[in-house]
Amino acid sequence: MKFEFENTVNERVNLPNAKGVELYLKREDKLHSFVSGNKYRKLKYNLLKAEKTSFKTLLTFGGAFSNHIAAVASAGNIIGFNTIGIIRGDELQNKIENNPTLSFAKENGMQFKFVSREVYRNKTSEIFLKSLEDEFGEFYLIPEGGTNALAVKGCEEILNKDDEAFDYICCSVGTGGTISGLINCSKPSQQVLGFPALKGDFLKEDISKFVTQTNWKLITDYHFGGYAKINEELVAFINRFKINQGVPLDPVYTGKTLFGIFDLIKNGYFPEGSKLLTIHTGGLQGIDGMNVVLKKKNLPVII
Ligand SMILES: *Cc1c(COP(=O)(O)O)cnc(C)c1O
Repeated sequence: MKFEFENTVNERVNLPNAKGVELYLKREDKLHSFVSGNKYRKLKYNLLKAEKTSFKTLLTFGGAFSNHIAAVASAGNIIGFNTIGIIRGDELQNKIENNPTLSFAKENGMQFKFVSREVYRNKTSEIFLKSLEDEFGEFYLIPEGGTNALAVKGCEEILNKDDEAFDYICCSVGTGGTISGLINCSKPSQQVLGFPALKGDFLKEDISKFVTQTNWKLITDYHFGGYAKINEELVAFINRFKINQGVPLDPVYTGKTLFGIFDLIKNGYFPEGSKLLTIHTGGLQGIDGMNVVLKKKNLPVII
């Protein structure tokens, strides 16, 4: 696995109702087919450290559709680490075959431990981590969603010199690692806008711990009811975006973010002449899993 990245390209988005605003997408989703977008950035320095300190096993946490679980499994397979995924929801144990994310991780050699939501909530407790070490032996621990100081450092490499021309840098927010890196490498004159994919007030505090500047803001109106919650309007938007722009968006993160940005542009949030750069953070492996759910409910699927 290469840990040096070429700059990913910025592509212009055709806006239906531009209001004097220009929007570009940084195609980080094209960094790697399986370790996609921001997950590769977040893993980079963690994997280098794990290699240097001679660990053989990576252990991390995630839910049923987690892009992070898929990324860690694939990265571990490529660079020769054992991988262990602690998965939220013990009901998933017998349903791996019906879940594209877990099937993919399994094919890449990941070993699972399924735990109840209650146990999962306490996953960072000393006692639980000790029990995992008794069960699996020594491991390099990567937190849920992959966010730690080394992950933020990796995300500080997303922007480059040319990107200084943008007035706004926008991205999806899950645990806040990606936006923290973007804030730290932005110019003070730029505004960094984060679009949380879930409800919760803790994010602002979490991000504050990692960042060195104050030129940022969370736009909390576009989570669609919570993490991995979607509706027909969002699916229609994602499908229209694919047809009109030729760019796929995922339903958990980038779909909601672009929906929000289109809505803000329409409502005149950005002054005329503003140049926006949105980071396409990847996550496309999640589409198949979401389509399984949509089909079950007889709802239109993501194309
Ligand atoms: C994980 C993920 C995010 C969220 O990144 P954080 O660093 O956890 O905020 C955003 N977009 C996609 C596609 C992701 O997979």
